[in-house]
Amino acid sequence: MYTVTDPATGELIEQIENATDEEVREAIDRVHRGYLSWRRRPVAERAKIVSRAADLFAERADELAATMTLEMGKRINEGRGEIGVVVDIFRYYADNGPSLLADEPLEIKGGRAVITKNPIGALLGVMPWNFPCYQIARFAAPNLVLGNTILLKHASICPRSAAAFERVLHDAGVPEDAYVNIFASSRQIPGMLTDPRIQGVSLTGSERAGISVAAEAGKNLKRVVLELGGSDPLILLDTDDMDRTVKATATARMRNCGQSCNSPKRMIVLADIYEEFVDRLTKYVAETFVPGDPSDPATKLPPLASVAAADEVAGQIEKAVRQGATLRTGGRRIDRPGAYLEATVLTDVTPEMDAYHEEIFGPVVLIFRAETEEEAVAIANDSPFGLGASVWGTDPDRLRRVAEQIESGMVYLNSAGGSQADLPFGGIKRSGVGRELGAAGIEEFMNKKSIRL
Ligand code: NDP
Repeated sequence: MYTVTDPATGELIEQIENATDEEVREAIDRVHRGYLSWRRRPVAERAKIVSRAADLFAERADELAATMTLEMGKRINEGRGEIGVVVDIFRYYADNGPSLLADEPLEIKGGRAVITKNPIGALLGVMPWNFPCYQIARFAAPNLVLGNTILLKHASICPRSAAAFERVLHDAGVPEDAYVNIFASSRQIPGMLTDPRIQGVSLTGSERAGISVAAEAGKNLKRVVLELGGSDPLILLDTDDMDRTVKATATARMRNCGQSCNSPKRMIVLADIYEEFVDRLTKYVAETFVPGDPSDPATKLPPLASVAAADEVAGQIEKAVRQGATLRTGGRRIDRPGAYLEATVLTDVTPEMDAYHEEIFGPVVLIFRAETEEEAVAIANDSPFGLGASVWGTDPDRLRRVAEQIESGMVYLNSAGGSQADLPFGGIKRSGVGRELGAAGIEEFMNKKSIRL
């Protein structure tokens, strides 16, 4: 069942039945038939339609943001910001797609060859609720320009965002059979991956879902992109403006109520500024992130996406404290309807505690003390995840030296948790497989065909 529940009030808004197996089969048939004609359209034509989608996303930003606020509690301004990034992604692939897909001539031993860039077929997307539009955009925009078609199964708590996204694409001119939203259950996914007409799958979400989908894809020899969890380190080496650093790092962590895969979940601070940073950040978090209605632009702390998510994070905090962590502020569910949880700061988390190794998907900062730069890097790398990271400080050479040593797919210097259309995004270790965005993002489901001339 797909269920819309307002996480700010707990009110049940709408329920939608899951698709039947017959409807799933019909949807696969549609995206396969859609592929046979979409791939034949000239790249420039596909790019033009994707460009029109960018314009329509911009026009409907307020409506899409309000839908996300209702379904998963995103602050209204963050929702508008998310649609801004979606617009950038569609524009980036519309503008750059044709050159990224141009033939690549090759001089080879004894002659010449050319690499042509071709689509591979209909793809399945399995997407999460935390960025209901941005997560689809990263997958859909490059693949539509490339000539693949898409069957999209969104998270079961955001069916209205899923439907609104599909509407934008169809209104922009993407054929009805080139992008199909399906309210399938996750139990129907193995069957979809067995179907020979589905050529690959991209999933963003939990490790548990990623493992299950990757195992099915492996059995069926389908291409996979996985964007899973993260517990990104933020290393603070020094600062010449503690107030600004506290504000910027706390704001990065609390973005999307802490529910971002690449949020700086573990802050690792060198010993000489550790106490000051902990005191100032704790005070800032306690004073700034007070709960409110997510549709009010002044609100700083919205609810989490669901009561289940808020209970889960509260449970992780409680366990960390039981295991010996120090609670500096927050830690409890807030006594009001909906999925609210206090903004929380924890210190003294050690490798013996679960919180040291787990991802905490909510408004919770973990702060670690490192005696040296080397120890900071060791703590940063002592994680099963390897999505993003950030290094903060005043010496550019030192920042770069530390960045080189971090085991992750991305490192940002003096900023954290960002994403932009032209910069590849993705992780290593248990954070996933493959890359999205930038030139790399259009190659994942591409057939680079060698033609020997
Ligand atoms: P899930 O991974 O369960 O949901 C993401 C998507 O995967 C949804 O469409 C979901 O469908 C689907 N899904 C779930 N289980 C399976 C499965 N076995 N096979 C195929 N598809 C599946 O995320 P949760 O909502 O449970 O969030 C839990 C945790 O996941 C978070 O606490 C966080 O750690 C991580 N997460 C990471 C995200 C990221 O951006 N990397 C985004 C969201 C979550 P359905 O909704 O129908 O279950």
